[in-house]
Amino acid sequence: MPNVTVATRKGGTATWKTEDIDALRGRLRGTLCLPGEPGYDTARTIWNAMIDRRPAAIVRAAGAADVIQTVNLAREQDLVLAVRGGGHNIAGNAVCQDGLMLDLTMMKSVRVDPVNRIAWAEPGVTLGEFDKETQAFALATPVGINSTTGIAGLTLGGGFGWLSRKYGLTIDNLLAADVVTADGKLRHCSEEENEDLFWAIRGGGGNFGVVTSFEYRLHPVGPEVLSGLIVHPFANAKELLEGYRRVVADAPPELTIWAVLRKAPPLPFLPAEVHGTPILVFALCYAGDMEKGKKAAAPIRALGKPIADVVGPHPFVGWQTAFDPLLTPGARNYWKSHDFVELSDGFLELLRGAIGNLPTPECEIFIGHLSAAVNDVPVEATAYPHRNINFVMNVHTRWSDRKQDETCIGWARNLFDKAAAYATGGVYVNFMPEDETQRVEKGAYGPNFERLTKLKAKYDPDNLFRMNQNVRPRK
Ligand SMILES: Cc1cc2nc3c(=O)[nH]c(=O)nc-3n(C[C@H](O)[C@H](O)[C@H](O)COP(=O)(O)OP(=O)(O)OC[C@H]3O[C@@H](n4cnc5c(N)ncnc54)[C@H](O)[C@@H]3O)c2cc1C
Repeated sequence: MPNVTVATRKGGTATWKTEDIDALRGRLRGTLCLPGEPGYDTARTIWNAMIDRRPAAIVRAAGAADVIQTVNLAREQDLVLAVRGGGHNIAGNAVCQDGLMLDLTMMKSVRVDPVNRIAWAEPGVTLGEFDKETQAFALATPVGINSTTGIAGLTLGGGFGWLSRKYGLTIDNLLAADVVTADGKLRHCSEEENEDLFWAIRGGGGNFGVVTSFEYRLHPVGPEVLSGLIVHPFANAKELLEGYRRVVADAPPELTIWAVLRKAPPLPFLPAEVHGTPILVFALCYAGDMEKGKKAAAPIRALGKPIADVVGPHPFVGWQTAFDPLLTPGARNYWKSHDFVELSDGFLELLRGAIGNLPTPECEIFIGHLSAAVNDVPVEATAYPHRNINFVMNVHTRWSDRKQDETCIGWARNLFDKAAAYATGGVYVNFMPEDETQRVEKGAYGPNFERLTKLKAKYDPDNLFRMNQNVRPRK
């Protein structure tokens, strides 16, 4: 077997001889994949097809022991290290070029304690897998809206979805975690133990170590929830968006309504003549009693004359997959995101104008509805600081032909720049593309940034974990 050359963090290389590779394989419970070997391409392929990197070697970990081995190796040899959970992050930091990649996707255990309403998940678990286990007991914790997203990266950035207005962010329901820090030690952290590390991983991303187990609080949800889509022609967007603004201002915490602006996909419940035309979609979920949900959803359902209203009782697990067909892996993607306190007239006008020149039919603008329980948590309680916002805009630009890269990215940036005047300047770290490192300090972390830099100096002084929206250590 030829030697393997692995990139180091200082720009050099380390060389692994056959005996080094054999020794590493012998120490692992999981597998070591080199280029061309089975599993290598699966592990390095992530959701965003813009990212096509080839690590020198990939450890496909089977458990915490493999994570400790990999972290120690990367530290001792000063290797470039990337950590992959579900592989969904838009920035693509889960994969490195020529370095060592730690792939956690084989670590898939979920254990539920239905009596005490607690679940433990390993970092290779996807949201859909987690929901299926917890929903066996009609329990859930707030996670995201696409079932193939990884629970690890989502949690470490904050995490929000249909249940967040009622039960908070994913991190607000994190009870504890096991973290392998840069020194190779496995540390249990919670409000009682290693509290500073626990604070940092609740929003601080992968900066502080590799999480090998998450412990979550669960809540009674479903198994059916009132949920579904209301699809309108875009021609009435002005009145509808103003109506949306009125309705969400009075919505109870159980009710979450997101707005999606895009061209109509060929959904079976939409007439064929609507396919490909601009639409405004309200997607809603009521996390509570079905009859109360019907009353709460009535005002948004009464707006305008929809092309389709498919709101009704749906299994929660099914509703959690509702957007999967629009968000499949393998496309080229670029995102731009802003936080908002309010949906001002100027911003709504800007949104309406943007739909006229979508660069491809797959592009869309999501307005995520937050506030309520998310904002009941103090800014300094967790590393995630955005506890005063009510909406998040995510511009999802999506295409398949690389010749369209410039047009699509340019369209997203242009809309983002114009929207800045109405936004807070803050950004959800999990929605930041690779080229937004300048937003990490003020945009992603703001008042919590300084504390994060100090904790980075404590837990990762040499910045081993730097393939992320990086917080550099500062004493
Ligand atoms: C289609 C789609 C829909 C989304 N919807 C939502 C949503 O509704 N709500 C929401 O909050 N977010 C949403 N997101 C964003 C999502 O939270 C982030 O992309 C998140 O980073 C995905 O986590 P992952 O494990 O799949 O990603 P990965 O790319 O595997 O990981 C992201 C980063 O996290 C770090 N990391 C991963 N696992 C670990 C670990 N175990 N220990 C330490 N560091 C680790 C690494 O730095 C890695 O680069 C969505 C993303 C996509 C693509």
